[in-house]
Amino acid sequence: MTYSSFGKLRFSLPLKLTALVVALVTIGIVVMAALGYKHLSDVTVENAKIRIDRAARAAASTMEHATGGQFSVVRGNDNLPAALKLRTDETAAALQYSDFYDALLAEIGGNNQGAANLFVFNGETRGFDRFATTFRKPDGSMPPPMSISEGHPAYASLAASKPFTGEVPVMGRLRLAYLTPVLSSGSTIAGALAVDVGWADDLTVARDRLRTVLLKSAIAVLLLVAGFGIFWMTRAMQPLRNLAQFANKMADSKNQDQVPFIERHDEVGALAQGLGRVSRLQDELAYLAYTDPATGQGNRARFLRDLDAALAKSTAGTPSMMMHIDMVRFARVSAVYGTATGDELLRHAGMTIAMTLGGDANVARTGDKKFAVIMEGAYSEAEVMELGKALATELGKPVAVQDDEVHLDAAIGICLLPDHAQDAEAAMRKADLALRVACAQDTQRCVIFAEDMTDNTAREMLIESGLRYALDEDHLMLHYQPQIEPQSGQVVGLEALARWKHPTEGWVAPSEFITIAERCGLIVEIGERVLDQACAQARAWLDDGLSFGHIAVNVSPIQLWQQDFVSNLKSCLDKHRLDGRYLCVEVTESVFADAQGSDIAAILHDIRDLGIILSLDDFGSGYSSLGYLNKLPFDQLKIDQSFVRNAPGNKQDENLLKGIVALAKGLGMTIVAEGAEEAGEVSFVESLGVGSVQGYYYSRPVPAVGMTRAIEEISKKTDDHRQSAA
Ligand code: C2E
Ligand code: MG
Ligand code: MG
Repeated sequence: MTYSSFGKLRFSLPLKLTALVVALVTIGIVVMAALGYKHLSDVTVENAKIRIDRAARAAASTMEHATGGQFSVVRGNDNLPAALKLRTDETAAALQYSDFYDALLAEIGGNNQGAANLFVFNGETRGFDRFATTFRKPDGSMPPPMSISEGHPAYASLAASKPFTGEVPVMGRLRLAYLTPVLSSGSTIAGALAVDVGWADDLTVARDRLRTVLLKSAIAVLLLVAGFGIFWMTRAMQPLRNLAQFANKMADSKNQDQVPFIERHDEVGALAQGLGRVSRLQDELAYLAYTDPATGQGNRARFLRDLDAALAKSTAGTPSMMMHIDMVRFARVSAVYGTATGDELLRHAGMTIAMTLGGDANVARTGDKKFAVIMEGAYSEAEVMELGKALATELGKPVAVQDDEVHLDAAIGICLLPDHAQDAEAAMRKADLALRVACAQDTQRCVIFAEDMTDNTAREMLIESGLRYALDEDHLMLHYQPQIEPQSGQVVGLEALARWKHPTEGWVAPSEFITIAERCGLIVEIGERVLDQACAQARAWLDDGLSFGHIAVNVSPIQLWQQDFVSNLKSCLDKHRLDGRYLCVEVTESVFADAQGSDIAAILHDIRDLGIILSLDDFGSGYSSLGYLNKLPFDQLKIDQSFVRNAPGNKQDENLLKGIVALAKGLGMTIVAEGAEEAGEVSFVESLGVGSVQGYYYSRPVPAVGMTRAIEEISKKTDDHRQSAA
């Protein structure tokens, strides 16, 4: 059950307990009422019995004494009157209404606090006709006559000359009566004396009244119990609800204060203390799961969790910013000083970040040498930049290590939430993009993400910074690709091609890094290195007696436009004691794109004056203006790979190629076909009269050490080629 469903409890404990208490109280009331009623009933019956017995005795005695002994009382059990016996038969005849009997009954009734009636036995009807009574109509007149006949409760007893005690109907109600038979002197039934002590169904009335009272008070008590029960139970259960709420929040990993009610000394307190222990355990587990052991800062998992939370808050109106920090030189420092020192430096970096950015910064280590920070707040780009710069400065300060000082140097990429990203993936990517741009720069170590920042720019900056580093560390290499005369298999030249492996990106194609180097100006330095290395290699091979013709070096237009290019060429040749004919300078047609003809011609002439071979690279791929061919002093024309690969079978290209070859030959230029991969392609260009071929068919570009072996392979290939041609 989650916290959200907590409020929807269908059977809350207070309700259940209250229902139970109400049920128990109801049972209690019913039992008590039943017992009370039974007791009341018993006492009332007992009282009535005593009263009726007393009334019966008193009435019999009064009859005996007031009549001067005309009636004598025959007593039975308990001294109760069993009958009233007439002394003479005249008296029996006198059993009829008279003022005397009326007054006598009034006295008897007065003593009983009830009614009294006298009946005479009617031999004809065999009923007992009332002739005197204490009953009166409301207006004081005598009530209508009545008789006790068959069906009357007392009739059977009286007819058998026996007394009757019990309830008898009077005017639609019941009265508790005692009927004493009146016997003639011959002991035959002559009449009856009835006395009562009031309405017998008073008991029912009392019971009904009791029931009403009980019902009312029971309802009152139950309402009181239910109200108080719900109120008190709800109050008593409130701490449990609070604890449940706490536990649910705890399960949702929401930070909260101390567990409530922990100081109580009852069951609630015990539960709270248990929850407290679970909460501490959860904190410990969370610490282990979300902490980077090396730095004590958060780890990547915690960062991702916090980033999600920050993004949710940022879209709800509380913006934040996120930094990716790369300790640029860490890998090298760690390699030199060992991992223990590396960990120490990371700890130092983590602390520096936390201290520089202050308490609001949520710092985590997200990678080997990477940290990430989330800071809540509406930061402007200027403020963020200021913070980032301050941090970069702090992290750039030297750190003392083993009697030494090291610079870790940090690059920082920043992205603002939600301005730059609304989800974690975008936030990570954009901060990373900014970081890569920052990594690629030496001057600006802190970069805020900008929408025009694409993966390309980031990569370009990465390549650029890598190239600078490669030049510093002399990591740039040359591979050489032979140019072969197909008929003889003779190596007539070797093209020097730059090779570079980026520390994290791996091998980068020259087409990519040369273009970037041209854009950022590094091409000049790269060109100088290539030239120097190529010349040094030519010298070494010459000294080894290897026959390689010449080494061709690619020269970018930017290099060519350098004022000192030609003088540098000369010094390089001098430095390596190299004759100009061992060097070939390859330029592409793009060099003419923005050049004034005379300037470029002058430079090319100067190069040629050094005895260096001049080659026009990639002919046919770009401008291909034949106009400049006869104006400029090119010795060699390199036919672009696309021709070599497309022309066979394509009549138009084939004719064009034939024209180019004829033109080049006419101008006294040698021709190199680039990119021949198949024997057929070699045969094709050979058939057109192309002098030499450079392509994978003969050899891929190989490092200098592999050249001897490559040349051996080439000679085998040439034999094969000759045989297949024959
Ligand atoms: P490029 O000067 O036209 O060099 C020939 C390119 O064609 C080389 O590519 C070579 O590996 C490739 N190639 C040769 N034979 C074959 C073949 O049979 N099949 C295929 N598919 N490719 C073949 P790479 O080494 O990738 O160089 C690319 C370009 O980068 C070069 O084209 C050149 O323009 C430039 N480059 C290379 N090194 C330098 C350098 O030191 N300085 C300058 N400025 N540019 C360079
Ligand atoms: Mg080339
Ligand atoms: Mg080329």
